[in-house]
Amino acid sequence: MRFADIIGNADVAKALANMADSGRVAHAMLMYENEGCGALALALAYVQYLNCSNPVDGDSCGECPSCRQMAKLIHPDVHFVFPVNKGPKSSDDKPTSESYLSYWRELAMADPYFTESDLQKAIGIESRNGLIAVAEAKNIINRLSLTAVGDGYKAVIFYLPEKMNQETANRLLKMVEEPPVNTLFIFITHAPEKVLQTIFSRCQSIRVMPLSKEEAAKVKAMKPGDDREEYNLFMDIFSDLMNSIVSRDLMGALECGETIASLESREKQKAFCNFAGDCIRKIFMVQQNMKHIAALEPQEEEFFLGVAEKCGNNFCMRTIANIEKVVSLIDRNVNSKILFCDLVNRMFLSV
Ligand SMILES: [Zn+2]
Repeated sequence: MRFADIIGNADVAKALANMADSGRVAHAMLMYENEGCGALALALAYVQYLNCSNPVDGDSCGECPSCRQMAKLIHPDVHFVFPVNKGPKSSDDKPTSESYLSYWRELAMADPYFTESDLQKAIGIESRNGLIAVAEAKNIINRLSLTAVGDGYKAVIFYLPEKMNQETANRLLKMVEEPPVNTLFIFITHAPEKVLQTIFSRCQSIRVMPLSKEEAAKVKAMKPGDDREEYNLFMDIFSDLMNSIVSRDLMGALECGETIASLESREKQKAFCNFAGDCIRKIFMVQQNMKHIAALEPQEEEFFLGVAEKCGNNFCMRTIANIEKVVSLIDRNVNSKILFCDLVNRMFLSV
């Protein structure tokens, strides 16, 4: 991945290139992005640039041996850590990122803008929460204590540090504080408030900005797979739900709650919550006479304009807060039927 291949966040790319050029390479960096905005792509381009043997005009060459290894995500000095769990694609009893590395590579090469739920699907743990366990810290410490294969930087790209527990963080802490020479940690988070403070406080943080409408469309066009299928399913559920709510049909709304609770995995339920949150924001923008930035698709207009008119002033703010609460409770394994029944009921009452 070269900086030139990245969609959006040109300022961040420039800042990273400058950091590399000036030799002020932070040994621990935390990139905060809204899911799917390209933090991983930026991290990959940055490490590729740092290790490129023939950089040109503030970007890697894409052709030297190091760049070629980076393109296939097989650079021997670049390590990846991401949340995993037991699943049918690994026979390991205590799996680590290593157990699923080939799936990670395949996914990240096809689509470096993947989401957490894409990752879960790729490694076959859709129905389980991914975690970063202490075995992962041991692996990293072992690998970083080996001499670098190349003469450039060793890097650990750590996807979703918010999924690591205290024990893992404690193990890693010393390494993050005082890494071996020419070694860097890049943490990519979607929820900086959940990253353990001990790690967070030792990182230089970088905000990866949300993509513009055009940039997001480019990313979407590049993605493989069945995005549209999921959009159609979620939109059907969401529009049924909102139509029931505004027509004061409580039974209909509760049925929609059951449908959401029966989505096949917690990740899918969270994906629906994110989708519903985006939809509520669209309603809010329409209500605020900001339809031009609501990014409505043509076929959505009638629906969103209709419901925006029928929802009260506080509905959107309250509902977004309620949805965020549900997402955090899904992570804590609260019974999803109860959660979504309660959410729908609250939406019904606050409309
Ligand atoms: Zn190169």
